[in-house]
Amino acid sequence: MQNNKFGQIPMVDLKEEAKLLRNPLLTELTEVLNSGGYILGEKGKKLEKVASSYLGTSYSLGVGNGTDALILALKALDIGPGDEVITTPFTFFATAEAIAQTGAKPVFVDIEETTYNIDPEKLEEKITHHTKAIMVVHLFGQAANMQEIKRIASDNNLYVIEDACQAFGTEYQGKKAGAIGDIGCFSFFPSKNFGAFGDGGLVTTNQKVWYEKINILRNHGSEQKYHHAAIGMNSRLDEFQAAILLTKFIYLDSYLHKRIEIARRYTHSFNNLFKTPTIPERRRHTFHQYCIELDKRDELAKELNNNGIASAIYYPIPLHLQKAFHYLDYQKGDFPIAEKAAQRILALPIFPTLSVEKQDYIISVVKKFAENNG
Ligand SMILES: *Cc1c(COP(=O)(O)O)cnc(C)c1O
Repeated sequence: MQNNKFGQIPMVDLKEEAKLLRNPLLTELTEVLNSGGYILGEKGKKLEKVASSYLGTSYSLGVGNGTDALILALKALDIGPGDEVITTPFTFFATAEAIAQTGAKPVFVDIEETTYNIDPEKLEEKITHHTKAIMVVHLFGQAANMQEIKRIASDNNLYVIEDACQAFGTEYQGKKAGAIGDIGCFSFFPSKNFGAFGDGGLVTTNQKVWYEKINILRNHGSEQKYHHAAIGMNSRLDEFQAAILLTKFIYLDSYLHKRIEIARRYTHSFNNLFKTPTIPERRRHTFHQYCIELDKRDELAKELNNNGIASAIYYPIPLHLQKAFHYLDYQKGDFPIAEKAAQRILALPIFPTLSVEKQDYIISVVKKFAENNG
C-alpha cells in the first residue's frame, strides 16, 4: 500500500482506540492484577450483568470466543448428529463450522439482495423432519428479518439461534440483536463492533434452563469442582478481557453512533454511483462493515490501495463453495444471490476514530474512480 497525506488508512484502527482509552483501561486491568483472579471472577460477572441489562436479556454468559458461543448454544439445545440446522452461505466460516462441529448438518438458504441476510421466502422449502434450528446471522451489523424467521420457526417447531457476532448494539423493531431469538451469540474478537483486546464471546438467553446448561458446559460440564455432570468445554471469558470490555462499554453507544454517522456520509456520497446498504424500517444497522457493490470491484480495491486506503472483501467465497463443505454436495449456481454478492462486494474503512478529513479523502478517491470508470 502507498502512503497518502495521512500515512495509510486501515480498515480498523485499534491502536488509536487503545491510546484514547489507555488510562481507564489501565485502572481496570490493575484491579484484575490486584484481585489475583483471572478466570470466572468478579469482572466477568459484572460484564454479564451489564451486557444483560444493555441487551435486554435475562441471562448472559461470558465464553471463550464467538465460535464457542455458537457451539455452546447448539449443545444447550441438544443439537448434534442426525440434526439439520438452516443458515446462510454468506457469512464468516465460523457460523457453519460451529454447526458441523456438533455433528449436525448445515443446510444453506440464499440471501436477500438488499440486506445480505438469509431470505425467509426461501427458507421454508429447506425444512425437513431433521431440521432442529435456524441459525440467523445479522451480517455487517444489520439485523435479519426476524419477524418472518420467528414465524416460520414457530410454525415448524424450530429453535432460532442468533449469530450476532457482528451485531452488538444492533436493533430490530426496538429490540436488540441477540435478544430476539432463543439464544444469542456474540464475539468480542478485537475487530468486531464491540471488541476486546484478545478472544472473547458471549451467550445470551431468557431461558433459565439453557442458561444453567451453558453455565456448566462452558466449564467442563461442572458446577461443583471435580463433579462433572456433562461432557463440556473449556470456554470462559477471562478477567482481563472482561475488564477491557467493561471500560469500553462506557463508550459503546457513542462509538456505534460514530459508525452510523460515517455510514450516512458514505451513502450520501455514493448513492447515485453504486449499490449502497439498504436499511429497512425500524432497524438500527450498526455498521460492523460498510459495503458497496460494483462490477469493477477489484479495480476499485486496487485504486484505493494505490492511494494508501485499505478495503476488504467479505466474503470472497460463499460457504457452500468452500472446500471444507464439499461433503455437503452443493454446486456453483445453487445460491446465485450470495455468489453475485461475493463477486461484487467491497468493504470500505469504518471505525469510530475515522476522522472526517480521512473519510473525505476516501470519498474523493472513490468518486474519482467512479468518474473515470462510469
Ligand atoms: C467473528 C464471527 C464469528 C466467530 O467469532 P470468533 O470470536 O472469532 O470465534 C462467528 N460468526 C460471525 C458472523 C462472525 O463475524
